[in-house]
Amino acid sequence: MHHPKKERTLVIVKPDGVQRTLIGEILKRFERTGFKLVGIKMTVPTEAHIEKHYTLNPEWSRITGEKTIASYVKKGEKPWSEDPLEVTKVVLNNLKKYMTSGPIVVMVWEGAHAVDVVRKITGGTEPRTSDVGTIRGDFVLDSYTMADTDKRAVRNLIHSSGNIKEAEMEIEHWFNKKELVDYRLIQDSILYDVNMDGILE
Ligand code: GDP
Ligand code: MG
Repeated sequence: MHHPKKERTLVIVKPDGVQRTLIGEILKRFERTGFKLVGIKMTVPTEAHIEKHYTLNPEWSRITGEKTIASYVKKGEKPWSEDPLEVTKVVLNNLKKYMTSGPIVVMVWEGAHAVDVVRKITGGTEPRTSDVGTIRGDFVLDSYTMADTDKRAVRNLIHSSGNIKEAEMEIEHWFNKKELVDYRLIQDSILYDVNMDGILE
C-alpha cells in the first residue's frame, strides 16, 4: 500500500466552470488545502470519452439509475422509467451533451487522503443541497428539478473521483503516465515531515 500522502485523485472543471471563469478559483481551493497538482490539461472531450469516463465503474449505471428513481419517489413523482438502466441512459445522454459542449480542464491532485478530502471540498452532487463552503455550494445553484424540467444534465461545475478505485481508473483514462509529474514541493516538508526539524537556523 502507498503512504496516504501519495494518494491521487482526478478533478475536472466542467464546461460551465470554464465558462464561469472559475478555473483559478477552483484550483486555489485545492492548492490552499495543501494538495499538489501533478497533471493538468485543457481539452474538448469526445462523447465516447465521456461515456467511458462515467461507465469505468460497471456499477455506476445501476447506482445512478436507482438514485435518480429514489429521488423521484421522494418527491412523490414518477420517474420516466422504472428500470434503473433506462433511467441512466437519459442521464448519460444529457451528460455527454453537457461535457462536450466546450473546453474542460482535467487535473490530478496528490496529497494525504486526496480522494476523500477533494470530495469534501467539491461538495454534494446537487448544487441546491451542497454544503456552503464547498465548490458546488458556493459557486452554482442548479438542481435536479431544474435539470429534469429542461431535459439537461445538472450543471455542478466540477467532477471529482468518488473513491480510490474510481480515481485510479479515471486517472488512467485521462492521462498517460508521462503526463503526470513526480516532484517535491517546499511545503511537503511541513505537511509530511515526521520531525519538522529543518526550520530553525
Ligand atoms: P458526483 O460523483 O458527485 O458527480 O455524482 P455521481 O457520480 O453520482 O453522478 C455523476 C453525474 O450524474 C452527476 O454529476 C449528475 O450529472 C448525474 N446524476 C447523478 N445522480 C443524478 C440524479 O439523481 N438525477 C439526475 N438528473 N442526474 C444525476
Ligand atoms: Mg461520481
